[in-house]
Amino acid sequence: MLISLFRLSLFLMIVMAFAWVASYLASDQNKILGSTIIEISGFEYSISPIQLLILLGLIILAAWFVLKIVSLILAIFRFINGDETAVSRYFDRNRERRGFRALSEGMMALASGEGSTALSKAKKAEKYLKQPSLTNLLAAQAAEIAGEAEHAEEIYKELILDPTTRFVGVRGIMKKRLSEGDTDTALKLAEKAFSLKPKHEETQDVLIGLQTRGSDWRGARKTLSAKLKYGSLPKDIHKRRDAVLALSEAAEIIETDKRIEAQVTAIEANRMSPDLVPAAALVAKEYLTDDKKKNAIKVIKKAWESQPHPDLAAIYSEIYEGENSEDREKAFKLLAKMNPKHVETKIMMAEMYLQAEDFPNARRSLGDTYETVPNVRTLTIIAAIEKGEGADDSVIRKWLTKAVSAPRGPQWVCENCSTVHSAWRPTCFNCNALDTLTWMDVPETNAELASGSERAPFVLDVLNSNDTETAQFDLEVEQSLTELDNVEIEDDSSKS
Ligand SMILES: [Zn+2]
Repeated sequence: MLISLFRLSLFLMIVMAFAWVASYLASDQNKILGSTIIEISGFEYSISPIQLLILLGLIILAAWFVLKIVSLILAIFRFINGDETAVSRYFDRNRERRGFRALSEGMMALASGEGSTALSKAKKAEKYLKQPSLTNLLAAQAAEIAGEAEHAEEIYKELILDPTTRFVGVRGIMKKRLSEGDTDTALKLAEKAFSLKPKHEETQDVLIGLQTRGSDWRGARKTLSAKLKYGSLPKDIHKRRDAVLALSEAAEIIETDKRIEAQVTAIEANRMSPDLVPAAALVAKEYLTDDKKKNAIKVIKKAWESQPHPDLAAIYSEIYEGENSEDREKAFKLLAKMNPKHVETKIMMAEMYLQAEDFPNARRSLGDTYETVPNVRTLTIIAAIEKGEGADDSVIRKWLTKAVSAPRGPQWVCENCSTVHSAWRPTCFNCNALDTLTWMDVPETNAELASGSERAPFVLDVLNSNDTETAQFDLEVEQSLTELDNVEIEDDSSKS
């Protein structure tokens, strides 16, 4: 502004100078013999036109020179001003660079597990950068790695104070409480973290884990629906897990007096996931208690279609208890029709015929499953059929010997950690994962534990005795079979 005003006045001055020169040239009295007479403060100068031209040129040159000098002074003035900001900017940039270098070195140290180095770098970065939200994150993790848990917690508490880093702080302390086994506080913190960031998948999982551990099935179902809402869970998996949680909720309410409420929830679980065997079994049992046999049959049939299971067969058998063998046969055939080729169907039919002492039909129903799927159940059944048909002791003994070393058959196995469970549960008791229990054959490594090794001494005794009486042997076969039955009964009782 000032500069442009200055320039404008300078320009006006030049113009005025030209006007003055021109007026001299124009006046006749100053013109003598082509010379120009210039009068300056009382002196008269006579100059030729060429001299005049040179003079004009000199004036222009002087004006240009003055202009240049003025702009140079201005430039110097500006330079001095500019230099000051440039210097401060230089120092600022230097601090920032050092700060970020310390930060990146700290992160490197963190990644390579050098906690104390990372911590000192974090402190250095904080000194230069003055951005606690950034450096505190590094410091907290560094303190954790360096084993300074209390220090880490202090930093997390600082992070909680700042709304932008509050979630990180809550999450940090939540993880610390989890590692300390303080699940109650961890649950409260997980709820807080979830309210701050409901879309955060890890928080959703931690919260569900803690809720299921604390048997807060209803709360877990709410979190699960949030997972569905924010897209971190496919619809079908949500349905299945929700069914598992609903079933757990129902099983728990059944313990109290609110049976109707429990039934509604169990039915809901069964409707969401008809192949969830424990839900179907619970619902069928409830129907049976209320003498709603038709409903119970419907539920079992539906479940058998996709997931045949001995628990279902046991309840089905209970429904037709006391009826004559023809009616029972008819009923079981209807159930078998739902999934005729399944091994469990064959076993169920064979057992039904065994109970009716119809050995040829039992054999026909069992087919060759004792060869294709040799396990304790199929091999014991074929031994019983042989015995029923009056086979030689040696034949029966052969099957029982095989049964001793055979796998126990499908069990509730955690898909996550392969732990075998005697009864179904919503979460694995070993790894706490939700809905990982699958009815399947025990993996090789665990087969040893789950196989019928506990029966080995008794059967081996039978096999080793040289003069086994037939009666004695019969008794022991009976015992072997009841023992197998007991295993199933045990499963039932431990579930309810
Ligand atoms: Zn597990």
